[in-house]
Amino acid sequence: MADRIFLSSPHMSDEGYEREYVKEAFDTNWIAPLGENVNGFERELAEKVGSKAAAALSSGTAAIHLALKAAGVGEGDIVFCPSLTFSATANPIIYQNAIPVFIDSDYETWNMSPKALEEAFEKYPEVKAVLVVHLYGLSADMDKIMDICNRHNVTVIEDAAESLGTYYKGKHTGTIGDYGVFSFNGNKIITTSGGGMLVSDNEEGIEKVRFWSTQSRDKARHYQHSEIGFNYRMSNIVAGIGRGQLKVLDDRVAKKRYIYNFYKKELGELDGVKFMPSNEWNEPNYWLSSMTLNGKVRPIDVMEALEKENIESRPVWKPMHMQPYFEKYDFIGEGMSEKLFENGVCLPSDTKMTDEDLERVVNVIKGLWR
Ligand SMILES: *Cc1c(COP(=O)(O)O)cnc(C)c1O
Repeated sequence: MADRIFLSSPHMSDEGYEREYVKEAFDTNWIAPLGENVNGFERELAEKVGSKAAAALSSGTAAIHLALKAAGVGEGDIVFCPSLTFSATANPIIYQNAIPVFIDSDYETWNMSPKALEEAFEKYPEVKAVLVVHLYGLSADMDKIMDICNRHNVTVIEDAAESLGTYYKGKHTGTIGDYGVFSFNGNKIITTSGGGMLVSDNEEGIEKVRFWSTQSRDKARHYQHSEIGFNYRMSNIVAGIGRGQLKVLDDRVAKKRYIYNFYKKELGELDGVKFMPSNEWNEPNYWLSSMTLNGKVRPIDVMEALEKENIESRPVWKPMHMQPYFEKYDFIGEGMSEKLFENGVCLPSDTKMTDEDLERVVNVIKGLWR
């Protein structure tokens, strides 16, 4: 059996940058949830995306949780959230005892539909915060979304977990709303094995998040707590991996784009195939090359044929309003996210793939049309 081709797996730099930073942490015994790598990673990531401040945390989920808390979201508050996303976007709303209202996608972006968002504001004018996701590294239509949110004066949190390296009209995703979230989980475009970052121009907000993430210890000699705390800080080892990975982010984006263009050229003309939209205002990181199938060949056919050849692929996210846990919450839209789920498939987009690997994938898929 040929070697397995993965959807998206960790890819350390050839230069060994990550090892250097981690070695430094070992050599100085800074094996702790603080240290020069944590500070350095925050500084370097904030600079890369063009944000004033950043807090390094244990996961992207933790970053979403503390962003909601910073936005003042608490018990019984309503939060708008795209339905078509990974559950990690929605779960922290529940951690805060708040109420998600799921918003449909639009066809042009696969992301939050401005039209459905407008409707949601009419139904729930008291909404406390809006979570926007940039799915698969495609940016949402932020001008339209920000325009609506600004009119209602509501905090916007961008879940940019999948979109590090993606720009919307020249601005990095995650820096357009009030808070931006990045993830360094194993399958993301760069990884630290696990970790997250919250960015914002609100330096006070980020300072507060650092405070909450280290158990909310008041400035006192003894241990004193006036607020609930969390153990959400990133470790200095993990941050060292992140600093090294950040140096190769541009290379990873270039390779992801190469993969997307390869697939599009080879498969884009097949009957019923439509690749994920890359609008002209969108500079995606192409984290996962994805397509919809509207003809005879179904996503399940593609996934089964690839699996037989030891190649990983997967469906587009199952919408939150269709999930057993979340289906009791309201959904605003016309079923676009359901259609994307039914017709969508994510192709292997691992940056370690060779041209030979890419040929293997497209040959299996083309075979289904013969
Ligand atoms: C990966 C991911 C997260 C969660 O990040 P973790 O670091 O795994 O907690 C959140 N939202 C989206 C859209 C993701 O893909």
